[in-house]
Amino acid sequence: MIDLRSDTVTKPSDEMRAAMMSADVGDDVYGDDPNANSLEERVAGLFGFEAGLFTPTGSLANQLAIRQLVKPGDELLTETFSHIVRAELGAGAVFSGITTRTWESPRGLLSATDPLHIARPNSGPYQVSTAAIAIENTHNFGGGTVQSIDEIRKLREESLKLGISLHLDGARIWNAHVASGVSFLEYGSYFDTISVCFSKGLGAPVGSVMLSNKERNVSARQWRKRYGAGMRQIGMLAAAAHFALDNNIERLSIDHAHAQSLARAVHAVADHVINPQEVETNIVILNLSGLLTDANDLSAALKAAGILSSPVGPKILRLVTHLNISDEDISKVNSVLPDLIESALEA
Ligand SMILES: *Cc1c(COP(=O)(O)O)cnc(C)c1O
Repeated sequence: MIDLRSDTVTKPSDEMRAAMMSADVGDDVYGDDPNANSLEERVAGLFGFEAGLFTPTGSLANQLAIRQLVKPGDELLTETFSHIVRAELGAGAVFSGITTRTWESPRGLLSATDPLHIARPNSGPYQVSTAAIAIENTHNFGGGTVQSIDEIRKLREESLKLGISLHLDGARIWNAHVASGVSFLEYGSYFDTISVCFSKGLGAPVGSVMLSNKERNVSARQWRKRYGAGMRQIGMLAAAAHFALDNNIERLSIDHAHAQSLARAVHAVADHVINPQEVETNIVILNLSGLLTDANDLSAALKAAGILSSPVGPKILRLVTHLNISDEDISKVNSVLPDLIESALEA
């Protein structure tokens, strides 16, 4: 099967497994795990932060971060289709009493004026006060879109004036960096907290890091334990993340080229289904509106040809490229998918 459902399906390579096998370990709840400690320091240094905290998932890294920035009853603003509000099952409300309001933007692309327009800090005793804004880069459901650094900079300048904190959901910040050339240090300079994932395109089996200042890190470490995610000999997981940082960042450009190739092949037969110029990283979103098929049927037809995809809406099919997808796999998909789409065009 050629699995294009997500970049979370990546499996650790033999070399990554070897690095995990030989990792030094210690009890991380005692602060004794050498690889967890060095990974936290390394990622913090990469983005110019004081401290990092290893977490099993990106969702937990997001949740630990936003609860540092938003008091119970205050609000977090985020884009309507962001992971924090669409895919974390209300965790901010359930665990931290955080209320949210959202703005919607085409393809998830940030325009700084959108959150600034609805932001209401210091709203007094009768209305909800905005404490933080979260943005996602790349934007997953937006189609792997890369946020404009000018809009991020503008949002930082204006939100600082309002006393509003900024969180970056950087699950795929690696892809954004490779596509935009913007350095990790520059990305880091605009945010109070950041979450990053090693378990997506970087190919590690598990793991994320939450970045913040030292004080927030101490508090987040307590909350991580309270949530039941104080882990012990996690050096093997941290070693996989180290391996991913050493070996799997620059190669993301291959995944981006593969996504581009898929988009062009589909565009050649049906130009309204996908615009290749909007495919900036490793996520391809096909819009099947007006076609005589829907996402479930097309996904089933692809599956019959040995290709897995994700229907993410009635007429929206998502394909994600990653390090277990080869040039040959892409050729195979390009020999099947455009034909299926062409046969679903209205006569
Ligand atoms: C995958 C992802 C996360 C974290 O997901 P987990 O499955 O909890 O690791 C967070 N944000 C975005 C945008 C993601 O795509």
